[in-house]
Amino acid sequence: MSEEQDKPKLIPTKILKCKDAECKAWVREELAGAEPACPICKGPMHRSIRHLPALQNKIKKKKAEKKELF
Ligand SMILES: [Zn+2]
Repeated sequence: MSEEQDKPKLIPTKILKCKDAECKAWVREELAGAEPACPICKGPMHRSIRHLPALQNKIKKKKAEKKELF
C-alpha cells in the first residue's frame, strides 16, 4: 500500500520549450526570466505543458495573507 511514496507524483507544469525542433532545451516557466530565451541556442521559446514531479522546495507557504488574525 506504500506505492505512492515510490513514484513521484507528476503534475502538469508550465514550461518554456525552444522553438527549434532540433534543440531539446526547455525550462520551467517559473524559473525562466522575464525575457525567456533558450539556454542553449538563445533562440525564442514558447509555452508548453510537461508532466513533472512536484518541486520539493516549494512546500513553504506564504504567510502574507493571514491579516485576519489581527
Ligand atoms: Zn534552443
